[in-house]
Amino acid sequence: MTTAIYAGSFDPITKGHVSIIRSGLVAFDRIIVAVVINPNKKSLFTIDQRKEMIKASLDADPRVEVDSFEGLLADYARKQNVRVVLRGLRGVADFEYELQMANMNRNLNTEMETVFIMANDYFYVSSSLVKEAAILGGDVSSVVPEIVAKKLRERLGR
Ligand code: ADP
Repeated sequence: MTTAIYAGSFDPITKGHVSIIRSGLVAFDRIIVAVVINPNKKSLFTIDQRKEMIKASLDADPRVEVDSFEGLLADYARKQNVRVVLRGLRGVADFEYELQMANMNRNLNTEMETVFIMANDYFYVSSSLVKEAAILGGDVSSVVPEIVAKKLRERLGR
């Protein structure tokens, strides 16, 4: 059984993330969606809220596990006994950073490989853009799961 870790901020999860997870499940038997705990990064939702939204967005698919971790992804993967890290590529803007990260992670954990899945229809969507639009009163319901649209409205007092 092959497992992959899909790590990120997921603040909040978008339809772009969901599509990468769904595509990932074509290649892997199990995916651990891991929310990175980074106290230095300003976030809109708490780790628990983000995990809840991820779970709800994936209709409790038994092949998907939702977790969180602090520190190096390389160490977390080792602890979980997982050798594959899944990432989504949205375009050339993502490439440079992802190339650096993949190689740094390869150095930190020689047993680990990063696998990329090309973004589909939602290639232009990012969590930060979603937040920016929502904060300014925009309707983002077409690019985020239903639960996220609801939680954004609650969080922003609408
Ligand atoms: P990070 O803070 O690590 O960038 P994100 O939650 O923004 O965390 O993203 C996690 C992963 O999901 C990254 O590999 C990113 O490229 C990918 N991703 C984000 N948005 C999309 C999207 N719309 N389509 C495909 N992949 C995406």
